[in-house]
Amino acid sequence: MSVYRAPMKEITFILDNLIDYPSHCEMPGFEDASSEMVEAILPEAAKFFEEIVAPTNWPANTQPAYLQDERVITSPALDGVYQQMVEAGWCSISGAQQYGGAGFPNVVDLVVQEMLQSANLGFSLLPMLTRGVIHALSLYGSDQQKDSYLPNLISGVWSGTMNLTEPQAGSDLSAVKTKAVPSGDHYLVSGQKIYITWGDHEQAENVIHLVLARLPDAPQGNQGISLFLVPKYLINADGSLGARNDVKAVGVEHKLGIHSSPTCTMAFGDNGGAVGYLVGPLNQGLKCMFSMMNNARLAVGHQGVSVSERAYQQALAYSSERVQGKVQGIEGRAPIIHHPDVKRMLMQMSALTEGGRAMSFYTIAAEDRSLHHSDPEVQVQNAQLVEIMTPLVKGWCTEASMEVTSLGVQVHGGMGFVEETGAAQHMRDARILPIYEGTNGIQALDFIGRKCLRDGGEGVKTLITVMQETLSIVTARQTDELVFLANSLENAISQCQDALDYVLATPEQASTVAYNFMMLFGNSLSYWLLARLAIAAQDKIDQGSDDNFYWCKISSAKFFASQILVRNGAYTAAITDASIITGEQIDKQLVQPGA
Ligand SMILES: Cc1cc2nc3c(=O)[nH]c(=O)nc-3n(C[C@H](O)[C@H](O)[C@H](O)COP(=O)(O)OP(=O)(O)OC[C@H]3O[C@@H](n4cnc5c(N)ncnc54)[C@H](O)[C@@H]3O)c2cc1C
Repeated sequence: MSVYRAPMKEITFILDNLIDYPSHCEMPGFEDASSEMVEAILPEAAKFFEEIVAPTNWPANTQPAYLQDERVITSPALDGVYQQMVEAGWCSISGAQQYGGAGFPNVVDLVVQEMLQSANLGFSLLPMLTRGVIHALSLYGSDQQKDSYLPNLISGVWSGTMNLTEPQAGSDLSAVKTKAVPSGDHYLVSGQKIYITWGDHEQAENVIHLVLARLPDAPQGNQGISLFLVPKYLINADGSLGARNDVKAVGVEHKLGIHSSPTCTMAFGDNGGAVGYLVGPLNQGLKCMFSMMNNARLAVGHQGVSVSERAYQQALAYSSERVQGKVQGIEGRAPIIHHPDVKRMLMQMSALTEGGRAMSFYTIAAEDRSLHHSDPEVQVQNAQLVEIMTPLVKGWCTEASMEVTSLGVQVHGGMGFVEETGAAQHMRDARILPIYEGTNGIQALDFIGRKCLRDGGEGVKTLITVMQETLSIVTARQTDELVFLANSLENAISQCQDALDYVLATPEQASTVAYNFMMLFGNSLSYWLLARLAIAAQDKIDQGSDDNFYWCKISSAKFFASQILVRNGAYTAAITDASIITGEQIDKQLVQPGA
């Protein structure tokens, strides 16, 4: 099985040059998160995830979770690992200090999350869902709920889940049927939820479910949905664990990937009703849940980056060892890494991964500024930026992860298709990413509809303007090595502008062109950020550095420009020629008579 090494140099370069971490940590609230502190803790994190968590990836994949006597049994490979992670404080790094967290910026937490996700994607979902619950409770919970639940959720002693989906309510949550009936100071919740990630397990002492449900007299549709907190074990007045609540897992799915994560069917209220507490205003549950989902969507986007990184590391190692064929200049049979087509695949894997990582870190840094910047106006601008970027990070990075992990299999040849190298596991694990937390089809509609058309394209124009600012910088420099940046960035900007003009002029086409529109912007923004990193690398070279790492940054951007950004032409053409999809003939071809 492949080893995993945290890409610390790459991440540090992003923190220094894209985020400007020394300034970032000067924002109010980050007093204890200085650059020196971060430099001290990240190598410790790398050691933990490389040595303790990464080796669990394969055995946990081969021993999926199962249900036994109403208990969810997770892989023995994970036993004790979660507890070590909690004790080391890796779950609570960005948690509010008021509730026992370390209070680090989200960008630092993202570094830790990437290591965890690369080390074991299915396992990483356990703290990820908990963070979503923390986020929702921090925004909408009462003071008493925050005091009772946040300390143990932030430390990781308790975990959290998100219960939206029901058999008839997937992408369309307006069909949620789970009921909540008022009963004294609480509600009695009953109904069935499906596909609930880490819905039940014994890694944490308690599981705190956030559940979407309706009151009996609630309006139909989205307006009548409220959010409830339903603990697995009720909490006594002194904070200790009390009686078992009326909620349990009644099934654990058999699935394509992420086998270490139990995906549960949850039954609420089979014995009279699970005790639940309202979170946020009545009938505003979807709004509250979306605050949690937006957070989770960014996390899922980065899962795409992380699984891509792991697949790339594995493919790179394999291609240096596997010997096949001859290559001019190499004596005897050559390691396959010397074949141009294998180089193409490896570079494609690394360029897509680096582009996604840059976009994800850029967005999370904006999230930090939206919460901590001293200027309220800057906070608002950054909150808007996060809104626009969220579907791109989720959609583009996870689409890229399917390509990267599939290339990882291809680099291995037949050894990729059989299970024993683990390359296939990365591909199977990545396949969920475009599906959950809102399918990528829904992300595309969100980007084009809510994030673009709703404000007449103003927010998206801001993104185009910031790309133009980089173009001015690079055009002014015209260093030999960076000349390519100017041309390709200029092209990408005009393609984005053309697509935006087209969509604004033909809003009735929006849902038809949404996917290609999302991919065009994801591609262009990833490239723009890689270009910024290439400029920073050139600066280091100009200052006299001969570190090959900086040349690698420039060649990644060049490779992206020449081999990936060129897809923009196809996205743009597909957008302006999309009427074929809405034509009558396609309906005749696809839709059965009477359907
Ligand atoms: C492993 C796993 C873990 C999960 N974890 C959780 C969890 O923890 N909590 C939870 O609540 N849920 C969870 N889910 C559920 C997940 O979020 C849903 O599967 C997802 O939202 C899609 O819903 P669906 O499966 O019903 O697909 P559907 O909604 O039936 O969608 C099927 C297809 O139709 C498309 N489609 C649907 N509506 C539209 C539309 N309006 N416009 C365009 N296209 C559309 C979709 O994009 C998709 O391609 C999980 C699912 C899985 C498989």
